[in-house]
Amino acid sequence: MATKEQTPMMVQYHQIKDQYPDAFVFYRMGDFYELFEDDAIKGAKILELTLTARNKNSENPIPMAGIPHHAVAAYIDILVDAGHKVAIVEQMEDPATAKGMVKRDVVQLITPGTKMSGKTGDGKENNFLAAVVATGARPGDADQAAFALAYIDLSTGELKATELDEQNAVIDELGALEVKEVVLAREGERATPALADAIGERGWVVSYQGTVQPSATITYLTKELKSAAGQDVTALLLQYLFDTQKRSLDHIMPVQTYQRQAYLVFNQVTRVNLDLVENARTKQKAGSLFALLDETKTAMGGRLLKQWLIKPLKNLEAIRARQDAVAAFKDDFFTRGTVQDQLKYVYDLERLAAKAALGTLNARDLVQLKRSLQAVPDLQAALLAEHVNPILQEAGRAIDPLLDLASLIDQAIVPEPPISVRDGDLIQPGYDELVDSYNQALADNQDWLAAYQQQEREATGISNLKVKYNKNFGYFIEVTKVNLDKLEEGRYHRKQTLTNAERFTTPELKEHEDLIFAAQTKRFDREYELFLSVRAKVKEEITRLQTLAQKLARLDVLAALADVAENRHFTKPSFKEGEDRSLMIKQGRHPVIESLLGPGEYVANDVTFADDTKIQLVTGPNMAGKSTYMRQVALVVVLAQMGSFVPADETILPIFDQIFTRIGANDDLVNGRSTFMVEMAEANLALQDATAQSLILFDELGRGTATYDGMALAQAIIEYLDTNLHATTIFATHYHELTALANNHPAIQNFHVGAQLTADGQLHFLHQVQPGAADRSYGIQVAALAGLPKSLLHNAEQILQALEAQGAGQVEGDAVVSSSQTVAAPITDGLAQEVPLFNIGPAPVEAPVSTVAASLDPADQKALDELDRVNLNQLTPLAALNLVAKLQEMRSNDGQNS
Ligand code: ADP
Repeated sequence: MATKEQTPMMVQYHQIKDQYPDAFVFYRMGDFYELFEDDAIKGAKILELTLTARNKNSENPIPMAGIPHHAVAAYIDILVDAGHKVAIVEQMEDPATAKGMVKRDVVQLITPGTKMSGKTGDGKENNFLAAVVATGARPGDADQAAFALAYIDLSTGELKATELDEQNAVIDELGALEVKEVVLAREGERATPALADAIGERGWVVSYQGTVQPSATITYLTKELKSAAGQDVTALLLQYLFDTQKRSLDHIMPVQTYQRQAYLVFNQVTRVNLDLVENARTKQKAGSLFALLDETKTAMGGRLLKQWLIKPLKNLEAIRARQDAVAAFKDDFFTRGTVQDQLKYVYDLERLAAKAALGTLNARDLVQLKRSLQAVPDLQAALLAEHVNPILQEAGRAIDPLLDLASLIDQAIVPEPPISVRDGDLIQPGYDELVDSYNQALADNQDWLAAYQQQEREATGISNLKVKYNKNFGYFIEVTKVNLDKLEEGRYHRKQTLTNAERFTTPELKEHEDLIFAAQTKRFDREYELFLSVRAKVKEEITRLQTLAQKLARLDVLAALADVAENRHFTKPSFKEGEDRSLMIKQGRHPVIESLLGPGEYVANDVTFADDTKIQLVTGPNMAGKSTYMRQVALVVVLAQMGSFVPADETILPIFDQIFTRIGANDDLVNGRSTFMVEMAEANLALQDATAQSLILFDELGRGTATYDGMALAQAIIEYLDTNLHATTIFATHYHELTALANNHPAIQNFHVGAQLTADGQLHFLHQVQPGAADRSYGIQVAALAGLPKSLLHNAEQILQALEAQGAGQVEGDAVVSSSQTVAAPITDGLAQEVPLFNIGPAPVEAPVSTVAASLDPADQKALDELDRVNLNQLTPLAALNLVAKLQEMRSNDGQNS
């Protein structure tokens, strides 16, 4: 890059920029960080900086934008939060003494996955950086995983590694962790080009790491890992951190391995569909299961709760250990209250430990640490009280409250220190003799100054003469202009002139000023030295601190779950052991929807799967509550396996290995996939990977295509599930014709969500799930609830009746035939005797169906034509509302015209 015409500074800049082509280079010049060239042009736009130029008058002015050094953190945050990287270039020598160009170098590369400060919300979010490598397994190699993955939260030091069979699993895992950045091997057999593409498509930040230098630290942190690929991926991740952070990272904990299969697995789609950590519609925490459960008091607790939620357990013993502790807290309001009250005083110990390791802990952080530690003895005492459940007592005994550290900080550091650690006022009186002696000297000087002022007033006869101090001029005597002639000639040396006064010094004052400054400098240095020694002591105790943080986080989560269990009337679920896959949820509720409704408005439902029932076919009108019913089952399973109590009166569950969902019409039009394509792709995930231990929720499968092929596919899928998978499945459908399948498939049971037609033809949803099939879909009644014009609804009713009469033969001969060639659906049953579905007065049109269209009045015809043109696959709810409004308007306009 560097050319002959460049100034030495730009040569130096390019040498650095060439090493960090994908980062914004913040190049330190005096009090500013400068951006140059493309960085300046792009950065000025994103950061709203003024774009100027260096060498403005030359042939090629260099675009430039400056950021004041004291405000740099905020600008870095904006760029990094937007997915960019920032390389901080500092002056490595004092410009005043440097010969030639001041040496500069990158001191840190800040990236989305390594960011430690700034917008971390309430601290309840982890910030994960992951690395993935290929293991070198050959395709189809059943015994060997294809990918090794490691991840870390640099702000807490938590490091984990696992191996995964396939790319989808890697993507799901990265999605579940909400990783901010993924490190991949730049080249060689560990590189994963196809995965890189898939990660890039999702808009995640990718970074490449080249070679790894073996080091004692890497060996120490990875020594638990057995597989070569596991070691390599962790080493790659750590090397990336060392290269970018360029400082000691002593808070990183030795890697822990885990097996994805040891947890209840669900993919990204399911996590979103179930609103587990954020509301799928709003993308906010509010309206999610996490928000409902999050009664944690500490940031560590919040993070752990989220980890439990995205990784529920499968091991019964571990689940029961959590359940028992939740139960103990639930039954002991007093102990729980005391523990939670103390936890409110506990700051983010994991992040404080990390700051200690990185050397960024200031005196205020030390005070936060002290306050946190001071809360622990009371918390511990509450757990150890005589009446307390032994499980909690045991947890109390396991706590090391780090009293030594708390008392060290208490003795050494003042309760309200300044942010700066170099300007004194940090150290408690009585902690250090030297600091005390400097303080004494300074206090003595204050006395001297007061006496000196008095003496000068008397000597000059100027009663308002003052001895003062300011930062720029030090100590001085201030005399107002009218009194200047009273000063003895030659004794006072002018320092500064103001409008109304002059400022002077004298030899005695100067002498004392020097004494004061010397004492102050010594005091600052000594206080800083003492502060560093306290900080070093904290650093020595990082492991103990991290252990305490983990124990408090666990207690925090358990107490939170107990809170939720009590306040929301959750009960403790029991589990089946062995092969029995039966399931019973008595009076279950969807906790999030329940919380949004008024008290008593939620209709609880029983869910029962006998061991030989595998598939529940749930029918009922739209809006009846089918999807709420099935989500409720999934949420109960997630809650139960994470160790929480569940929203039901009584629950007995088998342990599930995976949950698959296909719920709702979330079009993926951005990626060019229609509703139907998405539907089928999501269904396929379940059909490929589900086992007899899985839970499958399919909502309205087949809706995205024409009626008959949709219904045919739905039926074929149900039969495939029945014959091949034997997973516990809830299949909600508005194709009530499918309910006939239960007649000749013993594993399929019909349920329906009740709805009632009132005397005036209004549809009333009961939200009550009952055994048996629904007789019809009530589509026209739901449309009536949406307020469509009455005559249109009449027409629809007539068309429906005609279609049903006409279509019965077709369906029978065509679509709803089971694979065993038996006719599945006596679908005209019940329809033949149907009375008019709702009462909206005499029908205006009395004609055979084939002529219905011809005899419509023009307004209705227009409305129907408009309806015909609608592409349901692309209709948003808002557009649907607008459409209904338009249809109404068409009719009322027409009414006025005629
Ligand atoms: P469907 O899947 O049958 O179209 P949903 O499950 O989406 O219906 O439910 C529609 C709405 O009905 C929900 O948003 C909720 O407001 C309400 N609802 C569903 N189930 C219940 C219930 N058990 N108790 C009370 N309200 C419910």
